[in-house]
Amino acid sequence: MGLTGIQILGMLPKKNCKECGFPTCLAFAMKVAAGQADIAACPYVSEEAKEKISEASAPPIRTIKLGSGDHTLAVGGETVLFRHEKRFEHPTAIGLLLRTDMAEDEISERLAKFKKLRWERVGVKLEPEVIAIEDVGGDAQKMADLVKKVREEVPEAVLVLMSEKKDVLAAGAQECGEHKALLYGVTLENLKDMAELAKETGFPLGVKADSLGEAARISEELIKAGIKDIVLDTGPRGLRELYEDQVIMRRAAIKKRFKPFGFPSITFPFRFTENLVTEYMIASVLVAKYAGMIVLSDFRADLLYPLMVERMNIFTDPQRPLVVEEGIYPLNGPDENSPVCITCNFALTYFIVSGEIEGSRVPTWLLIKDTEGLSVLTAWAAGKFGADTIAEFVKKCGIADKVKHRKLIIPGYLAGIKGELEEELPDWEIVIGPREASGLPPFLKEWKAA
Ligand code: SF4
Repeated sequence: MGLTGIQILGMLPKKNCKECGFPTCLAFAMKVAAGQADIAACPYVSEEAKEKISEASAPPIRTIKLGSGDHTLAVGGETVLFRHEKRFEHPTAIGLLLRTDMAEDEISERLAKFKKLRWERVGVKLEPEVIAIEDVGGDAQKMADLVKKVREEVPEAVLVLMSEKKDVLAAGAQECGEHKALLYGVTLENLKDMAELAKETGFPLGVKADSLGEAARISEELIKAGIKDIVLDTGPRGLRELYEDQVIMRRAAIKKRFKPFGFPSITFPFRFTENLVTEYMIASVLVAKYAGMIVLSDFRADLLYPLMVERMNIFTDPQRPLVVEEGIYPLNGPDENSPVCITCNFALTYFIVSGEIEGSRVPTWLLIKDTEGLSVLTAWAAGKFGADTIAEFVKKCGIADKVKHRKLIIPGYLAGIKGELEEELPDWEIVIGPREASGLPPFLKEWKAA
């Protein structure tokens, strides 16, 4: 279990020297206990205490880092069973499968899909991160060649190299250089060799088990062998077992601090179906419960996009709404005669409203008022988007210097504050806009400054 702030304070030198960036040792200890500061920030704490505190304050599921530099991917690091308890830390990594026996054309087509199928939604990038390369036939040179090709063509991809043969994984790892790949394929039989390879390369290992019990055994042996970075696969026994395994591992790691399961999992939904739609449905369950990585047999835009959106929704922090910055957003090149609309800074609202305005091609000034991420009506009910706060923002934001007219379009849902807002902004005419963003294009096309 984690240590309390007072327990951590007992292990600190209590110099109150502020070198850790906190005013007192107590303040620092409290932050370390809350997981908001790293014990290494205190230069005076003993190595022994550092190790003890680091271990006690580490998340029950270890964070595994793959890739390198700007293309580093973190999986695991989870601390809760349910998102509303705190948040989920690292989104399930989504990957595409390649095999060493695939034809050149097919590989090129898949790499092209990997590069192309990316989206942006409410300011968040939706991108796959992983390419898994499965060895077929045990040819180390083929693995090395394919890794080289992928590294050259898609340097941002994080790699999972799949083989039960040490020499094949070693050949692939060699081509990765500093770009850490997951070396997947550790069984009870090859465990020693794979542990050696992990030590030589510094790359994490992926356990390939046939059951939950076997996964625990392999994991335990690897821990004993000094391997710290592990990813777990409990095997393709059945769909129900796959789901149960994810839940059991997460519960055991978080509730019981069962070390062998204190690692993220890797899953392969295509092992349970030959139907691509069903495969993505399985993946959608695994995103919610609790896969660290999912490797898909193929990418298809209409299936991948909803999976990515689901992932985004599950892995956003429920305590911090997605927001955009307060300010004036010029859309479609507005000038001094262009309409002025105002809305809240809830990211979803912003992207829907700005999308409709951009689609209308009408040059428009969009004012975004900070409502702490609340939507229009919620913000109004919370006193963050009432006439007084809107008026204050309109006066200070500088829109009056950008337009000749004095007409402000407010969301239709705020029609009730029109009179009050006109009192607060006597120089402005308040125009009630449409209730829904979809009504903006026809509304703006009809709009006239004078
Ligand atoms: S650096 Fe260490 S000794 Fe100094 S205030 Fe921080 S915790 Fe205390």
